[in-house]
Order: sequence, then structure tokens, then C-alpha cells
Amino acid sequence: MATNDVSKNTKVPGHEFSKIVASPMATITVKCGKQYYIHEILLVNVSKYFSNALEGNFKEASEKKVHLETVESDTFERFSSWLYTGTFKTTEVKEKSEVKNDNHSDNSKNCNDCRSEQCNNLYRELLDLYIFADGHAINGLPNAIVDQFGTLFITPGTVFPSDDLIRTAYSNLPHTSGLIRLLVDDRCRWSCKEGEEDDAESSAELPLAYLLQVYLRQPVILDRVKKSENPKRTLRLDIEDYHDHSENDRH
Ligand SMILES: [Zn+2]
Ligand SMILES: [Zn+2]
Repeated sequence: MATNDVSKNTKVPGHEFSKIVASPMATITVKCGKQYYIHEILLVNVSKYFSNALEGNFKEASEKKVHLETVESDTFERFSSWLYTGTFKTTEVKEKSEVKNDNHSDNSKNCNDCRSEQCNNLYRELLDLYIFADGHAINGLPNAIVDQFGTLFITPGTVFPSDDLIRTAYSNLPHTSGLIRLLVDDRCRWSCKEGEEDDAESSAELPLAYLLQVYLRQPVILDRVKKSENPKRTLRLDIEDYHDHSENDRH
């Protein structure tokens, strides 16, 4: 698959160009100390976190400065790209045939390992952005990321998210969030499809909350498959189920 582009699925509030350029610049400092100058109106319009920080009665509001102490520069750059253009770039995952021809600096690795690593690097970039969006109340971005995960999960040859990725998701996100529910249902969906015993329970590396959610969702997903006239279709995830929409946020 080529470089990912979420433009089609991303909803960026319609700004008038003249309003953007007339807006004051906010200075955003990330974890490593790198600074970014972003039009305030863009930040304030998509996020309650930024509207509180930049329009409230705090010192940082009058100075138009925000320090994001835990946010990595890569993550913030994807966010600001989405803010201005509605798209962001992520790691490219090579097609299987391309992976076969790559050079391995480490001979002990085989191509499936390379592919798995690439997929999980991409998942991690998306997860980090989702965690940032969730923690800073960014409207619309979590749904755009969920859409991208959904597309990846149904792409042939895509690997299953690593235990490490699932652990990171569980320690940084509310367990009711759309992405967590997608990770759970994707696991259930796979075990229905394979018709095998789910091996998730055998892994001591996975969070207990995840195993429990999978255990509880499994019968629901199985039931859906049984009742369906077209079981294969039911196994496809309806990505809208994993969107979080507030009341005044129309899709
Ligand atoms: Zn390889
Ligand atoms: Zn939606």
C-alpha cells in the first residue's frame, strides 16, 4: 500500500482563508523543546483543550504559548498537517513482493518479520496520534484515525497488532474509546473467521482488561455471524460503530 492519506475521511472545519491569516499565531512547544507556530483559530476551532489554553484567563493564554510536555514532535507534526491540509503522512508499508527483495542488515530476520515490524510501526504512529487527539480533545481526528485502522485491518497481508501496541493503547486510552473497541472487535472477528480457539487468552503479555473485553464481545460477534445471511459480510467491521460523535458533531 502506498503512503497513507486520510483526506477523504477527514473532516476539517471550513475556515475562511482570510480569517486564518488574520488569526494570531500560537507558539506550541513539544517534548523535545522544538517549537511550532500555528494559527490560533485552527487550534481553537478543533479543540476544547486549545481553546481553554489560548482563550482562558491564564498566563499562557495572553502569551499565546502552550507547552505540550509529553507530545513527540512527529506526532505534533502529523496533527498540524491534518489541521492545515486535512491529511497527514505515515510510514509506508511495502507490498509483499517489495519486502522479499529488501536487504536485511540482520540475517536472522525473515521477510514476514520485516513486514510485521513495518505494520506495527505504522500502527504505533497512528496510535500515538490517537492518544494525543484523545488527551487534547481534538474533534474529528480520532474518527479519521479509526477509519485508517479499519482500512488497514481489512487489507490483505496486514499483520495483527503486537501485544506491545495493545498494551500501549490500554495504558493510555479510556477502555470505552472507539479505537479500543475496534481492537477488541478485530480480535473477535479474527477468531470467528479462523474458526479456531482464540489464542489471546494464552498470552500473559496482554492487558487483563483487553482479554476480558474480548471474552465478553466474542459471543456478540459470533451471534451476529450466525444470524447473518452473509456471514462474510458480517465479519467486516462497520467502521461507523467505532466513531465517537458528540451531539453537535454531524458526520
Ligand atoms: Zn524482509
Ligand atoms: Zn462517523
